[in-house]
Amino acid sequence: MVLILKLIGLIGGMSWENTIDYYRLINEIVNKRLGTWNSAEILLYSVNFKEVLKLQNQNKWNDLIDLMVIICKKLELAGSKAIVICSNTMHKIAAEIEAEISIPLINVVDETAKVIKSMDIENVGLLGTKFTMEGVFYVEKLMKKYEINTIIPDRIERDYIHKTIYEEFAKGKFLESAKVNFLIIIENLIKKGAEGIILGCTELPMIINSQDVNVPLYDTLRIHLRAAVDYAINDETI
Ligand code: GLU
Repeated sequence: MVLILKLIGLIGGMSWENTIDYYRLINEIVNKRLGTWNSAEILLYSVNFKEVLKLQNQNKWNDLIDLMVIICKKLELAGSKAIVICSNTMHKIAAEIEAEISIPLINVVDETAKVIKSMDIENVGLLGTKFTMEGVFYVEKLMKKYEINTIIPDRIERDYIHKTIYEEFAKGKFLESAKVNFLIIIENLIKKGAEGIILGCTELPMIINSQDVNVPLYDTLRIHLRAAVDYAINDETI
């Protein structure tokens, strides 16, 4: 019997700091599920983040759709059976990308929502870039599709989070001062009724973990990868 894992195409580099975690974690999860020496079958396409950032900040999301679709098609042509985009922010355009490709895109928003739903939680706080916190692709989807109410930080807090993600975390700087500030913001969300917190940015698990907080923490990076591994090992034998 040969164990065949489905080949997963990862689109990383956004930022490369946490793509390292994606690579490490997907292998750890496969290893844990299937035992020693098993590791993930993946293709990693790592983008030049500066170009992606430029387009995000110029609001050129159509160009980003084109870029992501081209990359997905290259990954598909090379044999990938599903796509994982290693960024919450880029899920702003997930539906448009999905419409253009013929393999599944494992959507971090849906996978996170399913975990929240399974825990019977109705009100969650959301941390992420401004694109993520202020866009509709998390807040509206969680409400309309999953009946989960999302609470976001206030404007000053959102500005701080956004700036810290790009100016510190995406440059590999993880300072204690940022952790302290993020924990204050999380406390404020809990005071506003959040029963759990979505770490809706793939850099955030590098600074906050479940031991730091008294409510469930939804680590989107791990949730995303567990879903990818479920997909990869389903019907794995021939
Ligand atoms: N890694 C971040 C996220 O998960 C932000 C990077 C980006 O702008 O794509 O949203």
